Amino acid sequence: MNRRKNATRIFLSTAIGIIAMLAACATRQNNFDGDRALRDVIAQMELGARPAGSAANRATGDYILAQLAAAKRKTKTQEFIFRGVPIRNVIGILGEGKGARVIIGAHYDTRLRADQDRDHPDAPVPGANDGASGVAVLLELARTVDESKLKNEVWLAFFDAEDNGGIDGCLIAKVETCEHTAWNWSVGATYVAENLEANPFAVIVLDMIGDADQNIFWEYNSDKELQAQLWAIAARLGYTREFIPQFKWSMEDDHTPFLRRGLRAVDVIDFDYPYWHTTQDTADKISAASLERVGRVMQVWLEGK
Ligand SMILES: [Zn+2]
Repeated sequence: MNRRKNATRIFLSTAIGIIAMLAACATRQNNFDGDRALRDVIAQMELGARPAGSAANRATGDYILAQLAAAKRKTKTQEFIFRGVPIRNVIGILGEGKGARVIIGAHYDTRLRADQDRDHPDAPVPGANDGASGVAVLLELARTVDESKLKNEVWLAFFDAEDNGGIDGCLIAKVETCEHTAWNWSVGATYVAENLEANPFAVIVLDMIGDADQNIFWEYNSDKELQAQLWAIAARLGYTREFIPQFKWSMEDDHTPFLRRGLRAVDVIDFDYPYWHTTQDTADKISAASLERVGRVMQVWLEGK
């Protein structure tokens, strides 16, 4: 009897152990993985500089579409011509609804001119942080977010043509009819904001969030309440050194066209980045841990944990 009881106990504890292990595996698979996100940064960097209208930009959009398809997400694209340049926004759709109620966005184009670079101002920006990092977080979210926990339709929006603001239009369009006037910022995001099927209650833009030396401050133009919510999640996750609940920068970024329409939008940006708009914005400056922190905050916010 005793022995038998022991055997039962051993069997039970083994079974519980196996179940716990399986549960741990399942949880781990669904957790945002910074290393996997870092591989998306490297894959984008291997395509070269990715300014709007370039072959590498097109290839980046194709890469994003392929990753979304592999993650079994619905996709759509928005294509249009802006000042002689073909533009394509790529959108991954999660959850159910009649239009996006939540948009998480990042730009996938890179800046045509590294005009903050004293030595190479005419070279293109490689865009590891300024472009690839936000895209990488969105792609890893596409792989990991549990759709059954979403109450609304959520868009992972990969904006084209954010980063050529202020550059001579003829350098970008390379056509006879170009205008020698400064190009616009946030061309792709503006298109999304002006063609919404529903009014999103939250728009969150991730830009330049992969710096190994991560310092993400509150941004002045962002929605205060939504911003506080995100930083509170970060604090709960223990990221108090990296998500700093103090105002520092005032940005014009892909959240701007949504703010202009009266929507709640936040720019999550680490603008303390010495390589901004230089040829030194390369993958060695990015860390998996930084990508993972931002990804985990977004995942918790989306899934409502
Ligand atoms: Zn930029």
